[in-house]
Amino acid sequence: MEYNPSIRRTPIYDIMPPVNEDGAYEGDQQVMTYDRIKAPESGEKISFSNGVMQTPDNPILLFIEGDGIGYDIMTASKRIWDAAVAKAYGGKRQVSWMEVYAGEKAAGLYDGDYMPEETFDAFREYKVGIKGPLTTPVGGGFRSLNVTLRQVLDLYSCVRPVRWYAGVPSPLKQPEDVDVVIFRENTEDTYAGIEYESGTEENKKLADFLKNELGATNFFEDAGLGIKPISPFGSKRLIRAAIQYAIDRKRKSVTLVHKGNIQKFTEGAFQRWGYELACEEFPEQTISWDEVAANHGGNVPNGKILIQDTIADIMFQKMLLRPREHDVIATTNLNGDYLSDALAAEVGGVGIAPGANIGDEIALFEATHGTAPKYTNKDMVNPGSLLFSGVMMLEHLDWFEAADMITRAYEKTIDQRYVTYDFARQMENAAKVATSEFATRIIENMDRV
Ligand code: NAD
Repeated sequence: MEYNPSIRRTPIYDIMPPVNEDGAYEGDQQVMTYDRIKAPESGEKISFSNGVMQTPDNPILLFIEGDGIGYDIMTASKRIWDAAVAKAYGGKRQVSWMEVYAGEKAAGLYDGDYMPEETFDAFREYKVGIKGPLTTPVGGGFRSLNVTLRQVLDLYSCVRPVRWYAGVPSPLKQPEDVDVVIFRENTEDTYAGIEYESGTEENKKLADFLKNELGATNFFEDAGLGIKPISPFGSKRLIRAAIQYAIDRKRKSVTLVHKGNIQKFTEGAFQRWGYELACEEFPEQTISWDEVAANHGGNVPNGKILIQDTIADIMFQKMLLRPREHDVIATTNLNGDYLSDALAAEVGGVGIAPGANIGDEIALFEATHGTAPKYTNKDMVNPGSLLFSGVMMLEHLDWFEAADMITRAYEKTIDQRYVTYDFARQMENAAKVATSEFATRIIENMDRV
């Protein structure tokens, strides 16, 4: 069911100036009004000036609680984020939370609508938010809510930092060597979803066209057909975001991961466009491996970010055997899908891996695991993935002090061997604690780090 714009809407906040008949207030901005979304009592919007984000000391941040374990992990994580901000800035900064809806909670509030239109409106207006996991309703006609959010809001970079936190169980001998940030393209390749089912009219038409017009004869009769679009625009904006991140965070390299040895005009082009972009837009800050070898004796000059590339399958091997050689990674959609989960498993699994989907202005941080329905409301699961997605969000606001405080308090808590059930079963002499108790321990440890 679609969101019904004829339903009465209330003004977003009381502090807004009066609205005229056209719904505009006596300034130059359109007033957004919402149906079910309630504004917090205080707080200011995040805005952009010449492409630069302006964060007030009391920003309004959006949250989608999420289904299943969403309530438990969101409640615990918000307590931790709020405590860190209060402690790090002595009360000078504070988040005003504004709940927006998707998934089952939305369906209950919006007559069965799992993805209400006003949730998109709120992200367009408030820019930054965080979400718990969402159930994808089973049955025909439903797209994944997560994919819908990314596509409608054009959140083209899926950003997944993967690093090890001291004490977290890992299958690697030296998990501390893993410290990468994956930028996975979020709108093209497999996510474009251009597929034609075997036996359909469309499939036959495309097969005929490929055979008769383009001379492509090397596929079997009735093969299902998929199109893999990878464009210069889509590739370059993703790689640009990855290089800019590397510059801002003083990282050492950006690795372009592709399967260009086989798919030359899609994956191979992604790699070529990446090098082109680095040369054209970041000539002062970056250097390619060829140039390092030819002119610098194999040593990257100080202050330069190395742009290198590697074939996707070898990347999995490298990240097991020599993870220190990689730092920021930029890759296409499907490669990034596999790589994100495989690397997360190297440092503790999806229960702790954080993520974000970021566009030109809007950023949506999210737990990377699902709703784990059998643990709903049991106050048992690990809040790590959502918690560290929130740490990423604080860093995105440039609130690094609060972010670091959480990371250090988390490590201290793991070191004291207070952990949720998933880690407890992999660690010796660990005390298994509830999600809420784990949060309380982290908050207490903020005063000890
Ligand atoms: P899942 O991630 O929900 O759960 C798989 C298993 O992982 C759980 O049984 C549990 O053992 C473990 N697990 C997950 N999160 C954990 C945590 N925080 N702490 C400890 N253990 C944790 O995957 P699933 O069972 O395949 O999917 C369930 C639902 O979640 C489906 O409806 C699916 O569509 C949805 N889903 C949503 C997202 C998302 O919102 N980003 C991602 C994946 C799946």
